[in-house]
Amino acid sequence: MQEILETNPMGVAVLECLTGRWLFANSALVDALGAARPEDLLVRDTSKTWVNPEDLARIEVALKTGQVLANYEVERQRFDGTRWPVLLNTQFVQFEGTEAAIVWHLERPAGKSEPSLAVRQEADRANQAKSEFLSSMSHELRTPLNAILGFTQLLQIELKDALSPKQNDHVENILAGGNHLLKLVNDILDLARIEADQTPFTLADVNANTVVADCMALIRPLALERGMELVDEFSRRPAIMIRTDALRFKQVVLNLLSNAIKFNCEGGSATLRGHDSDNGFFFLTVTDTGIGIADDDQADIFQVFHRLDTNAAVAKEGSGIGLYVSKLLVERLAGRIGFESEEGIGSTFWIELPLVSNDEALIWDESLRVGIDVLDKDHQVLISLLNQVRQHSVGDEDMDEIISKLIAYTHDHFRREEAIMAVCGYPDLERHRGIHRDLTDRVSKLADAWRNTRAPETRRRLRIFLRQWLTNHIMGTDADIAVYASGKEDAIRDALRSLETTGDL
Ligand code: ADP
Repeated sequence: MQEILETNPMGVAVLECLTGRWLFANSALVDALGAARPEDLLVRDTSKTWVNPEDLARIEVALKTGQVLANYEVERQRFDGTRWPVLLNTQFVQFEGTEAAIVWHLERPAGKSEPSLAVRQEADRANQAKSEFLSSMSHELRTPLNAILGFTQLLQIELKDALSPKQNDHVENILAGGNHLLKLVNDILDLARIEADQTPFTLADVNANTVVADCMALIRPLALERGMELVDEFSRRPAIMIRTDALRFKQVVLNLLSNAIKFNCEGGSATLRGHDSDNGFFFLTVTDTGIGIADDDQADIFQVFHRLDTNAAVAKEGSGIGLYVSKLLVERLAGRIGFESEEGIGSTFWIELPLVSNDEALIWDESLRVGIDVLDKDHQVLISLLNQVRQHSVGDEDMDEIISKLIAYTHDHFRREEAIMAVCGYPDLERHRGIHRDLTDRVSKLADAWRNTRAPETRRRLRIFLRQWLTNHIMGTDADIAVYASGKEDAIRDALRSLETTGDL
């Protein structure tokens, strides 16, 4: 068998099931990993050839428990430190009298691989620059635009009689266009601020019924104007208290309601319903009897600036920003948004936000800000992953993927944090490193337990652990680092750059 495997063009390793010991590595694998000879790979401590050593632990568990891996995505680390993204496939065999598994390394197609962290960070930076640009541009645009609108209104008021009916129409058109442009500019400004994390949330215990009643009152004139029925089946029902940012919640509900009216038909209706669920969430739906969304268009509906090719009169009202912003907001508020729709029949858009009584959901707000941008960004990503783990509707496979991302991100986050601590002269670095090691270990053990059992109880334990860890770690320990980091921004930037360029992330 060895000869057949040796000549195989794919990277192949054979591992003993019981011990995880490497029994064989073919030339293709030796070459791909940049090792000098097979012996370099056949040592017990192969952890250095894995970007995430947890992957190796995961494979060893799979071998011990007889679980076949199919297209398991990992990144191996070449001897020169670069990454090699592969899909692993295992096959159980008898190899020289031992229970063993062949591990096939299938090179991952370039398009399918997750972008490396450096690439992601570069994209984040570009995105940040874009948000800053949009934000300052919108300010610049607003001032002259307000002047245009102001003077046009003056023209309308002062000279109305002096203008011909046609000229009056022109003035009306300038005002309508200008107001639409102003709304667009304001929406873009808001979007840029949210994307750049410049709008901190104000979290409070909010009465969902009261907010919904306000939204209904605000939107009713629009419904009346269009001859539509607006049905409120929620606000007068027993109060439901949610933990959220009231203004942002209102913004999302208004967006859903105004869409339900805009994309409706004469004589149609929009109905709002709400209830709490026993898993700690408030569930709100807005159902319309409107034009609906074709199956082919459904995947893109939450893309920014995405507007369907509806009739021009309807389309000119929108900007394609509302749903994108709503999704950003709801997810940052530890919730979810979605919809069901049938073309020609209507749509139901729904949101889910945590109840006050939900002590598992974690929302990133000012109280969690450490004051070092890169760590704050990391914490937001980790919290958003935790909130995904927490969601009951997430299937087992999605859960595997979320957990893999969580493990990889935790690993990278700790590397960054340690680099920052080192460059800032943080006095307790070794102890902090120890805490990181311990946490990484516990995360990967719980993740393994989940992967092996897929039991709801393990999922619950993992959620509780992650939540406690994140709050305690961020609030208890990380907050200290900011004191040492102050004034050392350049050194921190250099340290993080060097982590990226040496491939340590
Ligand atoms: P806008 O309403 O400003 O165009 P949104 O982001 O709120 O932007 O919506 C994006 C697009 O999704 C809309 O242009 C419309 O094509 C579609 N859409 C949103 N809500 C509905 C709905 N209730 N029924 C049908 N289509 C909708």
